Amino acid sequence: MDATAASQGRLAGKIAIVTGAAGGIGGAVTTRFAREGARVVAMDLAPALDKAPYRAAWNEASVVPVPIDLADRGDTDQAVARALAVFGPPDVLATAAALKGGANFLTVTDDDWDRYIAVNLTGTFRVCRKVAEAMVAAGKGGRIVTIGSVNSFMSEPDAAQYVAAKGGVAMLTRAMAVDLARYGILANMIAPGPIRVPNAADQYEEPKLAASLHDEVALARPGLPEDCAAAALFLAEDENRYTTGSTITVDGGLSAMIFGAMRDG
Ligand code: NAD
Repeated sequence: MDATAASQGRLAGKIAIVTGAAGGIGGAVTTRFAREGARVVAMDLAPALDKAPYRAAWNEASVVPVPIDLADRGDTDQAVARALAVFGPPDVLATAAALKGGANFLTVTDDDWDRYIAVNLTGTFRVCRKVAEAMVAAGKGGRIVTIGSVNSFMSEPDAAQYVAAKGGVAMLTRAMAVDLARYGILANMIAPGPIRVPNAADQYEEPKLAASLHDEVALARPGLPEDCAAAALFLAEDENRYTTGSTITVDGGLSAMIFGAMRDG
């Protein structure tokens, strides 16, 4: 990375923590934040961090991987404590870690329900609260960016526990915006639509999905992780001073459109 760019970037001098950093969207967020001058603690499951697709783009001085298992409360607490010790209290937290997929409402098992809620909602809540406590103690304000989904407000077949958890993330984000405002901490959510992440790129080759994207997405194509990173950057930087409790959809117009199959072309 060019040192001049880092010192002049939109997050120059900032410290960030990103969960789900070994994944597609979290990886792109980590990479963009570092490129904009932040020092970033990149958190994910240990085996995932070892083979993170974006890892080659990370400079050891500015991106430090720290393993975390959000399914385990004790591990989460210890991992966040380790993350906070790497560069000191962060200015920015972005939470992208999640289990994806899901199951039908009638057939989802109690165990699977609990697993998704534990990682996607409770895990997000507990990381946010630990990091917010550090931000409050440091007294320098902060920015929290959660990665929800269009499934935070729209359901889809066979994803009951996933959409329920994502709906919870939307309201968790608003609760944080309200309770943290007095400390100068702004909290917002990104709601991605179909994003072509490396570990799910194959599914976009399926003709059925291509047809569905054409019919349901105004831009008629999937987005890229970098599209989410661009939105996260705006929500993370000091220039965002008055947007809190808000949602930026990065969905190519999916949630803006009905009857897309009726259009020409
Ligand atoms: P991804 O699978 O590439 O990344 C998710 C990451 O979460 C993985 O690296 C995984 O290891 C990590 N993770 C899972 N369980 C964990 C645990 N117990 N502890 C710590 N980390 C754990 O997925 P992605 O597509 O990059 O998704 C990132 C976020 O964006 C997720 O919250 C997802 O729900 C959301 N999202 C993605 C899309 C999309 O189309 N890709 C659409 C809407 C929302």
